[in-house]
Amino acid sequence: MPRRRRHIRWDRILIVAIPLILLILLCSRCGKDEQEPKEPAAETTAAVVQDTTAPAQPAIVEDTFIVVLDPGHGGKDDGSTNRDKTRFEKNDNLNLALATRDALQKYPKVTVLMTREDDSFPSLDERCEFANQANADLFISLHRNAASEGNGVEIWVNSGDENDMDTLLAEYIMELLESKGISRNRGIRKGFRGESSNNDAEGGYYVNRHTNMPSCLVELGFMSSDIDNQNFDNKLIDYSEAIARAVVELGSDNGLYHEPLPN
Ligand SMILES: [Zn+2]
Repeated sequence: MPRRRRHIRWDRILIVAIPLILLILLCSRCGKDEQEPKEPAAETTAAVVQDTTAPAQPAIVEDTFIVVLDPGHGGKDDGSTNRDKTRFEKNDNLNLALATRDALQKYPKVTVLMTREDDSFPSLDERCEFANQANADLFISLHRNAASEGNGVEIWVNSGDENDMDTLLAEYIMELLESKGISRNRGIRKGFRGESSNNDAEGGYYVNRHTNMPSCLVELGFMSSDIDNQNFDNKLIDYSEAIARAVVELGSDNGLYHEPLPN
């Protein structure tokens, strides 16, 4: 018995095949759409877990003058000490920064951000990244010096930087600090102190080098100087008000801060 040749029912095949092909095409696109956002963004892959305490994400109020205060050292890093090692630079830096924040917040439309608000230890890179992400207008690192002898205030700016706002910022701060009484004006200095470990090969303190906005590093007296320690303790509020005033005056004179300044 001859086998009956079966008709191939193309119509039925196509009825099934076409929606199937469409479905496969659609799913392959859906898969792409779902996967793309899951690829890690550059920012998250750059977040390296270290033995440090990164500053929290800054809370920024729109249309304000953004000032980052960076109390040097912290946590496991004491910074310098007084002669009998009972006093740590990290604590003085933090106290000065907290007082300066209070003084700055008396001016309207200023946002003050701190790289640390307690005895934590953000890395230098985290401090810079924090300020850069906040798109801050100014960055001021607060430190105290130490040496076998010497006293007075010096302010450091980046040596290789053509941005004169750094020097201007340092000059404003120095002038007003001096008006409150300091043991000696050691000047605005470029680069970094030779024996410092907080520098990199390009000739400036790391925080001055790696922040995108005008910046300076204030060394407010020597931990190793009794007269500087006395001044620091007696004039903490005066010094913090001087730094705050210098910051808003510089901002006002250079189009960064638009509120009228009280006399
Ligand atoms: Zn220091």
